[in-house]
Amino acid sequence: MALLQKRHYQKVVRQVLQLAPTYQQMSDAELQKQTQTLKTKVNGDRSHLKSVLPEAYAIVCEAADRVLGLRPYPVQILGAVAMEDGNIAEMKTGEGKTLTATMPMYLHGLMGSGNFLITANEYLAARDAHDMGILYKWLGLTVASAVPELGQKPEDRDLDAIYQSDIVYTTNSTLGFDYLFDNLAKSPQEQHLRALNFALLDEADAVLLDTAQTPLVISGVPRVQSNYYQSADQVVKLLELDEDYQISDDQKSAWFTPRGIVKMEQYLDVDNLLSKTWTELYRHLVLALRANYIQKRNRNYVVKDNEVVLIDAENGRELPGMKMQAGMHQALEAKEQVEISTEQRTMATITYQDLFRMFNQLAGMTGTAATDKKEFLEVYNLSVFKVPTNKPSIRKDLPDHLFISNRAKLLATLAVVKKAHSSGRPVLVETGSLELSVLYSNLLLKERIPHSLLNARSEVKEAEIIRNAGEIGAVTVATSMAGRGTDITISEEVEKLGGLLVLGTERMQNRRIDNQLRGRAGRQGEPGESVFYVSLEDKVVTENAPKSIRKFAYQHAHDQNQTLSNRGRFRNAINRSQRILTNQERNARFETLQYGEVSRIQRESVYQTRNLIMQATNLDALVKMCFQDVAKDFVNNQAEWVDETQTLLEFVYQNINPDYQPKKDLEKLSHADQLEVLQKIMKARLVTVHQQLPHQDQWIYFERLAVLRAVDQGWVEQVDQLEMLMQVTKSRSIAQVNPIFEYQKEAQKAYRSMRSRIKLQVVRNLTNSEVIPQSDGTVDVEFP
Ligand code: ADP
Ligand code: MG
Repeated sequence: MALLQKRHYQKVVRQVLQLAPTYQQMSDAELQKQTQTLKTKVNGDRSHLKSVLPEAYAIVCEAADRVLGLRPYPVQILGAVAMEDGNIAEMKTGEGKTLTATMPMYLHGLMGSGNFLITANEYLAARDAHDMGILYKWLGLTVASAVPELGQKPEDRDLDAIYQSDIVYTTNSTLGFDYLFDNLAKSPQEQHLRALNFALLDEADAVLLDTAQTPLVISGVPRVQSNYYQSADQVVKLLELDEDYQISDDQKSAWFTPRGIVKMEQYLDVDNLLSKTWTELYRHLVLALRANYIQKRNRNYVVKDNEVVLIDAENGRELPGMKMQAGMHQALEAKEQVEISTEQRTMATITYQDLFRMFNQLAGMTGTAATDKKEFLEVYNLSVFKVPTNKPSIRKDLPDHLFISNRAKLLATLAVVKKAHSSGRPVLVETGSLELSVLYSNLLLKERIPHSLLNARSEVKEAEIIRNAGEIGAVTVATSMAGRGTDITISEEVEKLGGLLVLGTERMQNRRIDNQLRGRAGRQGEPGESVFYVSLEDKVVTENAPKSIRKFAYQHAHDQNQTLSNRGRFRNAINRSQRILTNQERNARFETLQYGEVSRIQRESVYQTRNLIMQATNLDALVKMCFQDVAKDFVNNQAEWVDETQTLLEFVYQNINPDYQPKKDLEKLSHADQLEVLQKIMKARLVTVHQQLPHQDQWIYFERLAVLRAVDQGWVEQVDQLEMLMQVTKSRSIAQVNPIFEYQKEAQKAYRSMRSRIKLQVVRNLTNSEVIPQSDGTVDVEFP
C-alpha cells in the first residue's frame, strides 16, 4: 500500500519535472499569465484541482527559481504531492518545508480565499508571508499575514483585506480567535473569515499535538462574585493526602475520597455535599483541591506584587494578564492569600482539534510525525508520509549515556561541552524546562564558558539566537520548544569540526520531541552529532518509573561509581517511563476531544442559527415560533395549586408589558385559553413596538438585534455552564463508571434549558424594549 502510494506520487513528480522545459521557455509575462489560465480551468471547482496539479507545481518551480533563486528539489515536489493527498509530509529539519508549502498553497490559491498556512509562531507567519509572498504576488495571487505587525494591536488589522486574500499565513491562535470573534458579530459586515477551505500546518505536530490541550478562550462579562473561594480553600487545606483526597500518578488530577467528603460536610456543616443544592460549593472545593495540591507555586505560576502570574509550561515565560478559566485563577488567589480578582465568564471557546476539523481539507508538514501517526489518522484523518532527504543524512545519533544521579550526569555533560568548546565546535544544549536551562547556564558561568541562554522574551530574538547557534565557538542553552522553524547554518570550518553537537540533558516528554532536537544538527547532508545524557533522577523517570527504580536511584545517588552495571534494565525503565508519559498526554488529548465533542455540536448549531438570523430578511416565522413556545412553556410549568390568573398576570408584567391592563375575562381560563391569551398579548405588544419603528429597515434591524442578543446571552451562559460542568464531572471520574456519559447527559439537558431561556429572552427583547425616537430621526432602543 505504502509502496504503491509512493510510486504513484513519484509518477506525479515526474510529470511536474517533465513540464519544466515548457515553462522555462516562457517569458516572465507569459509565465505570470499562467495563473489566470489555470484559474479558468479550475473554474472555482475544488474537484478540478487534482487535474491541474502538475502544471501548477511546475509553474511554482519555475517562478521560484526566477524570483527567489530557489528551484524546489524533487523531494520537495514529492512532499508537496503527498500533502495534496491528505498527508502530513515528514520532512526533516532544513529540507526546505517553507518553499515546499508554496506548491499546495498556490494550487489552492487558484480557488480564491479560504486557504491558510498555519505556522508555529507569529514570527514565522510574518517571515514566511513576506518571503514567500514575493513569489505568490509575482504569480498574481494575493497573500497576507494575519498576525499583527510589530507594535500593531490585533484590532487594528485590516481583517477584510487579510481574509479576502487567496493565501493567508497565520498562527493557530490568531486564526482561532478571529473565528470566535466572527461568531460574536452582530451583522455579516462584522464577519471577516470567508471560508475554511484548506489549511496547511507547518510544524504540524507542534500545532496539532503540543498545543492541543489548551483551548482558545474569549472571556468577558464579569460573573457575580462568589464568596466560596476562601472557605473552600480553608477546608481543603485541612485535608490529608490518601485519607481525604488522592492524586493521580501523573500528578495531574486529584479527587476526594468518600472520607474526605464526609469530613468536609462536617467542617462546613452541610448535608449531602454531592447533592444539587451544594453544586456551587462543591465546585469551589474541587477548584481549591486542584489549586492546593496540583498547581505548584514557581512551576505553574509565581506570586508577584500580590498577584498570581501564570507561567507558560513549555518555555517557562511569565504570562502576565493571562488567567485560568472558570474560577481556577481565583482558587489560586485564595490559596496564596492575595486579593481575589473578578471572575470573568467564558464567552466563547474552541479547541484546536475542533478548529482544524472544520476545514474541508487539511495537510501538514514537520520533521517529526511518524511516532504519532496513529493519532493523526484517528483524530484528523491525516496519514504520515515520509519524504526522503535531499542528500543522505550523515548525522551521528549516539546512544544515551546513563547515570544514577542527576549531579553526576550534569558534571559529565559539562566536560563534554568544555571539550567541544575548546576546539571551537558549536554546542546546542537542550533542557526540558526553562528552570533547568537557567540552572545549566549558571554551571557554565562557573566554568567560565561563554554562552547564550535562550530565555528571550520575544520570538524574534529567540529566532536570532538559534540562527547563530551553529557559529564557531557558540554554546547555546535552550528549552526543547525554543526556536522551532529557524535554520541553523554552519560554516565549512564548523563542518570540519564535526558540525553542530546537540546535547540533550534529559529525555523529553516523548520520542518525537527527542527526534525534533536531534534534527537541529546535520541538516542537508551536513555533519552533526546528537546525544542524550540521562539519569535515574530525571523528571521523566522519577514521575513515571516503577518504585524499584526510584528506590535504587535514591540508595545509590551518592555512589562514587555512577556507571550502571545492569544497563539494559535501566535503559528499558527509562524508555518505559517516557512511553507512560507519552500515553498520558495522548489520553489527555483524547479526553479533551471527547468532552469537546458535546460543545462542538452545540456551538456549531448555535453559530449556524446566528448566521441564519444575521442574513434573514424576514423573521416573522421565527418570532411566531418563539411566542408559541414561550406560551406553551409557561402553561406547562403552571403548578395546579397556584392562583393561575395571578401568575399569568405577573408573567405578563415581568416579561411582556409592565403596563398591561387586564380585562375581566381573564378569570378561570383553561390551559388552551391561557395559551391563546398570552400569544395575543405578545402580538399586541409587538404591533405597538412596530408602530414606533415604521421603516422596514429599522424594523428588521431591531428584530435581528433583539433575537441575536437573546441567542448570545443564552449561549454565553451555556458555554460557562459547560465549563463548570466539565470541571465537576472530571473530578468525579474515579467514583463514576463513565463520567463522559454523565457530562453529555447533563450538557444536553442544559442545552434544552438554554433554548427555552433564549426564546423567553427573544420575547422580552421584542415586546418589552423601550423605543426612544431621537431628534435627528434615528431611534434608540433600550433592551430589557
Ligand atoms: P525546514 O522548514 O524544512 O526546516 P526551511 O524551509 O527553513 O527548512 O529551509 C531551510 C533552508 O533551505 C533555507 O535557507 C532555504 O532557503 C533553503 N532551501 C529550501 N529549499 C531550497 C532549494 N530548493 N534550493 C536551495 N535552498 C533551499
Ligand atoms: Mg520550517
